[in-house]
Amino acid sequence: MNQKYEETFKKYRAEFVIGTLLLLAVFHSAWYLYSTQMSAYMKSLNYNLVIVSAGALVIITALFSYPRIYKFKMLLSGAVVSSFFINLLLVYNRPFNGLKIMDISLDLYEKAGNLPEGFGIKLMLLLLALNLLLVIIATATTGFAAGRAWAGFVFVFNIAAYVLLLNIFPVFEKDTDSYFGTFSLLILVLSMIFSFLTIEEEHNFGSVLVSLAVMVFYLNMHPDPYEKTLMLAPMMGIVLFLGMLAHWISCLFHMANYDPLLKIYNRQYMEGIVKGVADAKIGNNLAVMMIDIDHFKKINDTYGHAAGDVVLNRVAFIIRETALPEGIVCRYGGEEIIVFLRDKSETEAQRRAEKIRTNVKKAVFIYKGSRIKATLSIGVAFSNEGLNGISGRIKQADENVYKAKKAGRDRVVF
Ligand code: GH3
Ligand code: MG
Ligand code: MG
Repeated sequence: MNQKYEETFKKYRAEFVIGTLLLLAVFHSAWYLYSTQMSAYMKSLNYNLVIVSAGALVIITALFSYPRIYKFKMLLSGAVVSSFFINLLLVYNRPFNGLKIMDISLDLYEKAGNLPEGFGIKLMLLLLALNLLLVIIATATTGFAAGRAWAGFVFVFNIAAYVLLLNIFPVFEKDTDSYFGTFSLLILVLSMIFSFLTIEEEHNFGSVLVSLAVMVFYLNMHPDPYEKTLMLAPMMGIVLFLGMLAHWISCLFHMANYDPLLKIYNRQYMEGIVKGVADAKIGNNLAVMMIDIDHFKKINDTYGHAAGDVVLNRVAFIIRETALPEGIVCRYGGEEIIVFLRDKSETEAQRRAEKIRTNVKKAVFIYKGSRIKATLSIGVAFSNEGLNGISGRIKQADENVYKAKKAGRDRVVF
């Protein structure tokens, strides 16, 4: 069980959240010690160039990625953060000095500045936090054109919403300020919960979004976060960019090493294990199980190929559940699955193989009302010198499958 939690934790890539917390700790201490110097340094920078670069990095990566690995969330997060940057630039530069349209003031600095301390910036941060939560909850994939339209809409909406909110919010008068901390905390907690619920589908992108939400929360806790926001905003862009890169790598790894139908590793990953190049700890005791579904052709012929696919998927699921956490399960060929069982004795390996056989035998697969049964022939070979001579062990396991078939199927041959 412990190993399962470990796996989930790995998948979550908590290092993004931890790294962000460290970054904030360093930033907070630096600010505490050297705030005057930091302010002076900020003023010496061409801030517009800094933010435009950070925004370009994020939006270009998002736009470049979307047609290639079609991850809607990446595109949406790019839109969200770059619209935040644009609002920030509007407040910083105040281009619409005194400009009003139908009583709505476009002079964001005037509004942000005349309201209670930090109100405008806090509102902007709150809007960003809400957006991040939206991205976490949003579907992982959607139609290509629809995804692009949504991202465009969110981008424009954020800029319009900020102007409108700044003009509307003052009707609530002063005390609104004290709600910001509570609201931000609530949104952060919701972001964390939802990001955990969607780990499987999105390869840890949730933890990247939570990292940004943590930064937003940190800023919103501050009585007047204007200067700190100016300083941390480029960091947000960099964290998101790194998160996008990590997401790219995870997605490509997944595409290259997993079987989309059986949802287990594929032959390519198996070859990696055999060559010792895959990231899998293999000790001395290693059992190789070769598994073949009995009379699978008959299932295809009787119920159709689609039913065969469902059975394959379910059988692979049962094998995986029974083999974890010590077993690495890969699709070897058509309806052949290979399991590398680590750190188990010969008898334990034999018992596990029996468990896999009986678990599948007990299961009933339902496809369009038909109740389908399946049995397995399993060949096992054992090695106590790890990957040494692994090819020979695989061959031996394969021969044992053949023996199991000849002996009448639905059995384990060791
Ligand atoms: P045996 O008990 O001797 O193993 O009999 P069998 O019918 O299972 O024989 P064999 O292993 O030669 O048959 C494999 C069949 O699996 C042939 C192929 O059509 C089917 N198959 C392979 N991959 C897939 C797949 O992805 N989906 C479906 N539906 N069928 C597949
Ligand atoms: Mg076969
Ligand atoms: Mg077969």
